Amino acid sequence: MNLTFAGAAGTVTGSCFHLEAGGQRIIIDCGMFQGPPELEARNLVPFPFDPKKVDWLVLTHGHLDHLGLVPRLFREGFRGQGICTLPTRDIAHVMLMDAARIQEEEGEAALYTAADALASLDLFRTQVEYGQELALGEGVRARFHDAGHILGAAFVEIEAEGKTIVFSGDLGNRGKPLVEDPAYPPKADIVVLESTYGDREHPPLEQSVNELRDVIVDTLAGGGNVVIPSFALERTQEVLYLLFWMWREHRIPACPIYLDSPLATQATRIFERHTERFPAPARRLFRKKGDPFDFELLEYTLTRAASKRISTESGAIIIAGSGMCTGGRVLYHLRDNLPRPESAVVFVGYQAIGTLGRAIADGTPRVEVLGSIVPVRAAIHKIEGLSAHADLPILTDWVLHADPRAVFLVHGEPPAFASLAERLASRGCPARVAGWHETVTL
Ligand SMILES: [Zn+2]
Repeated sequence: MNLTFAGAAGTVTGSCFHLEAGGQRIIIDCGMFQGPPELEARNLVPFPFDPKKVDWLVLTHGHLDHLGLVPRLFREGFRGQGICTLPTRDIAHVMLMDAARIQEEEGEAALYTAADALASLDLFRTQVEYGQELALGEGVRARFHDAGHILGAAFVEIEAEGKTIVFSGDLGNRGKPLVEDPAYPPKADIVVLESTYGDREHPPLEQSVNELRDVIVDTLAGGGNVVIPSFALERTQEVLYLLFWMWREHRIPACPIYLDSPLATQATRIFERHTERFPAPARRLFRKKGDPFDFELLEYTLTRAASKRISTESGAIIIAGSGMCTGGRVLYHLRDNLPRPESAVVFVGYQAIGTLGRAIADGTPRVEVLGSIVPVRAAIHKIEGLSAHADLPILTDWVLHADPRAVFLVHGEPPAFASLAERLASRGCPARVAGWHETVTL
């Protein structure tokens, strides 16, 4: 059994693992590298396997750093079968068509076209439910489990050649409103473990909700706007859910709330189709209090003209992408609101090194936005308890349940790897950091 780390090795993005087992060639995720240019250059590096020979593509979830290179894989000859959950299939459609549109704008440097993206989506003929067992050829079995990360996200257990290997995908935080807590893994020989927050402990959700409430109340009282750079998937829907709940509970005043992201708007429509998958309290809120994705304060700004108009407002909450401020409509909301001391920018998600979001979150006094140098006078807040990723205690508890003989750490930055490896070593569980394009025989 050979395992090759084609991405997310030594870095957070680009998740892609190639497993050769029981005569089958299986890829787990095929994500895009995102961040500084030297990292994004890896999107052009040949895969360390032949896409034409791959039999199966297993997708853990719909984030771009887990599926963004699927159309490139198709373009280079992959014609095997794609497997994922039903919500992930819906999300993949929206995410890949958006990625293809951005790629096409790159012109010569495009990795793929919208036609490649559409054709690659056709390969996802098999949708699975959590717990369902699937045969991947003779003697290889796969089972998806609830990763509690975003709608439809899974971690995957693969059994072959008498061994069990678990790919964590991205594991969720506990106590989140719109996803269940991550399920525990079965006993496994090997675990490939994400490490995003391997050096952090998240505050409880309740504390984060209170922080968000305080920022909103103070900023609206001072006549400023609250700008929330947000990831289109899950985080945006979660923020809408919390805003709706706080307003219904009279914890924040009524104010205009703009969802200013075409991608997040499309993602929200998918959530509305899968409300039966939400945890019980969220299902109850929908039944008794109304729809957090469609209420009187909330406006989806669909056109660019409508979007530009809201930047000149005061006393509004503006949710816009991209989540790390690397593009999208949030840029002009930042340009217009960063110089205003009465406004606030609230980061509710991970900010990778090298991104504009990280620079602002780290307290840089002046930043470049859309070609101008902008002074940062707005209040900057980081709210960490809304994270969609497990923290150090959850990752440790989770992986110890599998009682593995080997753990490969992926999907993280060096301080997170070091902290997680040290914690696991202290609990008698050896773990090491996977190398990019490294192949191990298991
Ligand atoms: Zn993810």
